[in-house]
Amino acid sequence: MMATTHAFVGLALASAYAAAGGEYATAAAAGALAGGVFPDVDLLAEHRKTLHFPEYYAVLGVLAVVVAAVATVPVTVGVAGFLVSAAVHSASDVFGGGTEARPWLAQDDRGVFLHTQGRWARPRRWVRYDGAPEDLAVAVAFAVPGWVAFDGWIREAVVAGVVVSVGYVLVRKRLPALEERYLQ
Ligand SMILES: [Zn+2]
Repeated sequence: MMATTHAFVGLALASAYAAAGGEYATAAAAGALAGGVFPDVDLLAEHRKTLHFPEYYAVLGVLAVVVAAVATVPVTVGVAGFLVSAAVHSASDVFGGGTEARPWLAQDDRGVFLHTQGRWARPRRWVRYDGAPEDLAVAVAFAVPGWVAFDGWIREAVVAGVVVSVGYVLVRKRLPALEERYLQ
């Protein structure tokens, strides 16, 4: 799934926290947005392995939520938002496509790397590939709570994220050829 989809899923969780009257919801949202995008920085390394830790982020996320509940300040809430969002991102990548350049061909069985087991989890392809129309539908659906719950820069980030997502979906299938021509 797109990094924006993951960011919106994290933001939706922060929106639930805000709706429940959570203190420092803006810190939670900032952390969730960053944590939703962060694992995909490994596109520059080994994608879905180097910075994707489905198991470790989950353990750290639970610990961070406990810490934030005990010592509720913006930093602890933000860190909890980051780790929970990164955990959900890493785990939910298994519902997307493989890591190949053209994932719509469905020829790659590497979904996300399970570091504790030293093996790849198989992609389930509920969302066939990142940038698929259904990916955009999921992104927009999860963007709504964030847009409703927050204002200011977070709401602007939601709008920008949706615009970027639409553009990405429109050009997605042309990207591998462009990459092969200009970057290799
Ligand atoms: Zn990812």
